[in-house]
Amino acid sequence: MFKQNKGLAVILLLIVPMVSAIDYTPMDFSSEPQISQGTLSMPSESPLPEGRIILTTTGSAVDYTPTQKNLLQATLDDLCKIDNKRTAVDLNNAISNGHVTFNSEMPTGTLATTKCPALGYVDPISSNELEINQFAVDSWDLYKRQNAKAQENGITDPKKTEELMTIRDLAFTMIHEDVHMKQYGPQEIPYYENDAYETAISEMRRVIKDDMQEMLDTELPGEQDKLNALIEDLEISKSVYKEKIDSMQSDAIANRKVDPEKFLTSQTDMETLIQDADTLIQKTNTVTQEIAGTTDTEENIPAKEYTPRTLSPPAKWLLGN
Ligand SMILES: [Zn+2]
Repeated sequence: MFKQNKGLAVILLLIVPMVSAIDYTPMDFSSEPQISQGTLSMPSESPLPEGRIILTTTGSAVDYTPTQKNLLQATLDDLCKIDNKRTAVDLNNAISNGHVTFNSEMPTGTLATTKCPALGYVDPISSNELEINQFAVDSWDLYKRQNAKAQENGITDPKKTEELMTIRDLAFTMIHEDVHMKQYGPQEIPYYENDAYETAISEMRRVIKDDMQEMLDTELPGEQDKLNALIEDLEISKSVYKEKIDSMQSDAIANRKVDPEKFLTSQTDMETLIQDADTLIQKTNTVTQEIAGTTDTEENIPAKEYTPRTLSPPAKWLLGN
């Protein structure tokens, strides 16, 4: 116990939590997250393991609800799926060290924040705390239950777009917050936010281009299922990317949480890439329909040339352009 005096109050004011957030409306997602009962704690300096990152469920993580655990595991899985295992490892380390909590009071427009509870002579890695909006857990759970209900009612393959988008949204947010988690006393000012936004945007573009490139590398009709899965994944990343850029324009740029001059082309870059992805999806669908109409051949259709502007080196593709 201690008596509070004015001097102390001033000091306390100086060390109120510094909040840094990536803002946008939580969206949705799907997949059946599987929780392993085991624990696997991986220091960042150890070599990255093969396979999935299993959520740490001991120590500070025991207090999570089952749904929170499922959400976290689904996010770790999605980070691995989009080939960013490094962030998954960092997130799991933060979880095992008790630095990841869920907050029911957070505004719905914010998916997660990184706080430094006490600025001082502290190691940022050991003092930063990541909060995830409980709203994301609740909405994801709702989407999952809706999809389960749809399956009960005979819809064998319900669209899981919202469920999947919630997790993809969270995965990209974790990439943003991972930057903050390594900063000293992160705050919502350009010095901290520029890097977090640039990193997340760069990753979103990389993930979208990877899907596009993989689509271009498929052979039809032999890999139609793979192609369909890539299109579904691309649609989800596209939606999240657009949502994040729109949100950045209306919040981070408008409110000068980032340096606007560093993001002058972020909107047009996003629009161009999405346009290219849409063109690729359209061409893919056209070819798929053509193949469906000519079932007399079992042979793979050789790839033809199509070069999306945003891909380099030039990629082969199905339909001449
Ligand atoms: Zn931020």
